[in-house]
Amino acid sequence: MSVRVRFAPSPTGALHIGGVRTALYNYLFAKQQGGAFILRIEDTDRTRYVPGAEQYIIETLKWVGLLPDEGVGFGGDKGPYRQSDRKEIYHHYARELVQRGHAYYAFDTPEELALRKQAEENFTYNQQTRGGLSNSLTLSETEVESRLKAGTPFVIRLRVEPGRAIHVQDLIRGEVVFQSGELDDKVLLKADGMPTYHLANIVDDHLMEITHVIRGEEWLPSTAHHVLLYEGFGWTDTMPVFSHLPLILKPVGNGKLSKRDGAKFGMPVFPLEWEGATPEESFSGFRDTGFLPEAAINFLALLGWHPGGEQEIFSLQDLIQAFSIDQISKSGARFDYEKAKWFNQKYIQAANNEVLASYIRPLVNSKGYEATDEYLEQVAALMKERVTFLPDFVETGYYLFEPVREYDKETLQKKWTPPIAEIFNELTGMVATFEPFNGPALEEAVKHFIHEKAVKPGDILPLLRIALAGTMKGPAVFDMAVALGRKETVRRLQALSELG
Ligand code: GLU
Repeated sequence: MSVRVRFAPSPTGALHIGGVRTALYNYLFAKQQGGAFILRIEDTDRTRYVPGAEQYIIETLKWVGLLPDEGVGFGGDKGPYRQSDRKEIYHHYARELVQRGHAYYAFDTPEELALRKQAEENFTYNQQTRGGLSNSLTLSETEVESRLKAGTPFVIRLRVEPGRAIHVQDLIRGEVVFQSGELDDKVLLKADGMPTYHLANIVDDHLMEITHVIRGEEWLPSTAHHVLLYEGFGWTDTMPVFSHLPLILKPVGNGKLSKRDGAKFGMPVFPLEWEGATPEESFSGFRDTGFLPEAAINFLALLGWHPGGEQEIFSLQDLIQAFSIDQISKSGARFDYEKAKWFNQKYIQAANNEVLASYIRPLVNSKGYEATDEYLEQVAALMKERVTFLPDFVETGYYLFEPVREYDKETLQKKWTPPIAEIFNELTGMVATFEPFNGPALEEAVKHFIHEKAVKPGDILPLLRIALAGTMKGPAVFDMAVALGRKETVRRLQALSELG
């Protein structure tokens, strides 16, 4: 049977970066095995539904290049892939489970249950309590019939029988055993007619022929119920193989990375920016921070997985080849943002200038700068070794688009003396007419000029650099001059002289 995996997020807000890692591991496994990667939207909890969240998920997958083979927005013949479009299917299966004796109708009202909870601190609806409650296990058949006919609100619950050890085989954690006596009778179908996560998830995994479930660790306890559902339906032969991924931990301290950690540590914990109803609910993302998607993917891939060895840079293709569920760690993975930045620098340095120019283009436009594509490619070449994020090209490197705003005064104070000023003026005149105006030729001519004047390169070159970029940290000075062009270069040299 061919491998089929699914990424099954709930559209309850911006997709957390950990969700992108889950999608990635599913994708890598599917592609490596020649299988299918499916996007299923689990939106049955209408109270937590957030408009725009589904679109955000799809846009994220497109941004990082993890395109589903089937799913909401991607076609496929096992749909619909949005759970709210599958209501009837869940009704059918919930009733079937009742008929098979593994589920039952429960008529207790929310008020009744709330009263019970008030009276008994640890009240749960389970094997011990259900005998004293209002359900199809305690009421007569005719009573149940007549209530159903009368339209009395009900839920359908899973009937968990005591005294069973439930074995979950997990590819990451090995065998995990749960005692059925400790499990509650989970609601499967709610009074509003919607299924709960548990029912919808199992029915869909079955109907969509999912072979492997790869998801976050927080779902491990639910898996016991899921196994009972597979048994109840008689689907154990095709039950998927489970893998529960380790948590992503805060950069420092204890606990799981949370959406609040973004603001706290000054880093994105979402893939894309998200505009919530309030500023506290709005978040920046990896994309708008200026990460290349390939860098984000490489960083996420290594959060909890490593194939061994020294290699750290992996393209998506490399990852598909190297990935293995066996090498996913059981323990939590620390979200090391410095490492994410390091990956981004590496990917920017390795990117070709044309690609970088296409990323720089919208940043340039939004600042109101004008530049040709060819110029942006030059900017990419000049700056790629000096930036961490894409916006640095136009922020750190602003002087490639507008006159210098601020000069390195400390260096100027040390270097700008009357005799040097005179030589600098002369040099400006030379640059104004020197042919050919290209990097190597200009460099040679300037060095020759410096030699002739019997001064040191260290007396003149820093001034040239400061004239063009304002800072000693700018790119290679002659390449910068060529990119800026003769006219602008001369203008900047003169501007420095006037300042001095
Ligand atoms: N809808 C669940 C979530 O939001 C899916 C869990 C699963 O993959 O089974 O994470």
